[in-house]
Amino acid sequence: MNNLIIGNHVSFNKNTQLLGSVKEALSYNANTFMFYTGAPQNTARYEIDDSLTEKAKELMKQNNIDINNVVVHAPYIINLANSKNMDFNIRFLKEEMSRCDKLGINKMVLHPGSHVGLGIDAGIDNIAFALNEALKMESNVSICLETMAGKGSEIGRTFEEIKKIIDKIENKNRIMVCLDTCHLNDAGYNICEFDKVLKEFDEKIGLNKIGCVHINDSKNPISSHKDRHENIGLGTISFNSLLNVIYNDLLKDVPKILETPYIGDNNESKDRLYPPYKFEIEMIRNKKFDINLLENIRNYYK
Ligand code: FE
Ligand code: FE
Ligand code: ZN
Repeated sequence: MNNLIIGNHVSFNKNTQLLGSVKEALSYNANTFMFYTGAPQNTARYEIDDSLTEKAKELMKQNNIDINNVVVHAPYIINLANSKNMDFNIRFLKEEMSRCDKLGINKMVLHPGSHVGLGIDAGIDNIAFALNEALKMESNVSICLETMAGKGSEIGRTFEEIKKIIDKIENKNRIMVCLDTCHLNDAGYNICEFDKVLKEFDEKIGLNKIGCVHINDSKNPISSHKDRHENIGLGTISFNSLLNVIYNDLLKDVPKILETPYIGDNNESKDRLYPPYKFEIEMIRNKKFDINLLENIRNYYK
């Protein structure tokens, strides 16, 4: 098989922690993964159990998962663009970095934040201030600023905005970018012409700054500023355009992470939801879209 680095969002539970996350990723035939160290919508976090981390690392080694390709996503309640709760946000971001260090993970994806009325420039100043404070802490973690759809007052919907933040960062070695295909589409970048998008990124920021790529189809048309992810090949971006991103030679060493929605069990209630990743990864490896994707998923898990 090729050296494609592909994985998806997995859970990280109190009792199994990183070991559970690795096992879940392996169940989808992924060779990398991303997770929140706790609930994304709150800041409650439990102690990291080093014995579970050791077992997880052993299992990763056995299965050729390089921990350098594993990514943590910072909780989305952290909003660095707004000056409200600034001290708390900085402290929590540092704690997340420490947790990553303890787990041996060196990439953390972060949404730049929403300025909620302050204006883009003030928002960018706040983000840069907070990041500079957080990055004073010694750590192996690089922060990957995620490109956003531009929903509400989100900052980071253009490469210019991301660049403005990076320009203000003192420790540039530890700041990178996470491209999200759904967000790029919704922000107005045409994924069908991905080479052009990458060229623009290279001119403005530099390809060496891409630390992670989120692979999602989109439920909405280009420039819709919505941010609703769709399963691979079932949205407006199309399977082939996503393959062009995934197999782009310029991104070959960058981890690709799926964050596509779980599939409802069409039968009785919508109670049961099934992860799509095993089947999406299979389609991606085969480079062939399967029209029966959703049925295959339901049949496998029910
Ligand atoms: Fe994200
Ligand atoms: Fe994303
Ligand atoms: Zn999103």
